[in-house]
Amino acid sequence: MIFDVLTIFPDMFKIMNESIMGIAQENGHVTINSIDIRDFSKNKHKKVDDYPYGGGNGMVMNAEPIYFAHKSIIDNIDYRPKVIYLTPQGKTLNQKMATEFSKEKHLILLCGHYEGIDERVLEEIVDEEISIGDYILTGGEIPAMVFIDCISRLVKGVLSNVESNIEESFYNGLLEYPQYTRPKIVLGKDVPEILLSGHHSNIKNWREDKSKERTKIKRPDMYEKYIKKDV
Ligand code: SAM
Repeated sequence: MIFDVLTIFPDMFKIMNESIMGIAQENGHVTINSIDIRDFSKNKHKKVDDYPYGGGNGMVMNAEPIYFAHKSIIDNIDYRPKVIYLTPQGKTLNQKMATEFSKEKHLILLCGHYEGIDERVLEEIVDEEISIGDYILTGGEIPAMVFIDCISRLVKGVLSNVESNIEESFYNGLLEYPQYTRPKIVLGKDVPEILLSGHHSNIKNWREDKSKERTKIKRPDMYEKYIKKDV
């Protein structure tokens, strides 16, 4: 899967060369290209922002450099990848949406800064607006990385153990059950006996009960939805 990111801070994406995302790129399951919007500025100082018409605080990102950065991608391919603008005004990303996005072969992500982006280029190129939560960050790069990470782990081959996606929190409308590893006793606490029993169906039932129990406590809103689906 290809992610082309339109950004004024391309170096921020070097962090995606670490850990599972780094391996996913090395193995060719995921490609992340960060495209510097400044390279498409016609201003001699590579300026990409200006004062907002009508007054007000802060600066607004210019339309043209973004338009031409996007054009530089689509001019070289014979299909039109979806363009996602990361913005607090978008639909809040969730696991179901991530599953849908993971079916795309190529996505273009647009990162805003300052007070945002000139509306006219958004109207021209953006297909969907995605938020990572109801709070304001300084720029769209961290949201873009959250988006890439969350979608990439659903791309075939990125996770070695397919099961780890299936049992993950949110997959079936519940939070995941508690996990334990060696040693058997740590901090004076023992592992729940059932996990040592080797009895697979009892373990499965125990985990299911724990999932329900903790969803009810930690995320009553989610539990409510789960129960309604169940009835
Ligand atoms: N003035 C804008 C508004 O009220 O909608 C917020 C601008 S914000 C300071 C700068 C940029 O950060 C946005 O253009 C967007 O790309 C990104 N951003 C900030 N918070 C975000 C969030 N919760 N989800 C996704 N992107 C976000």
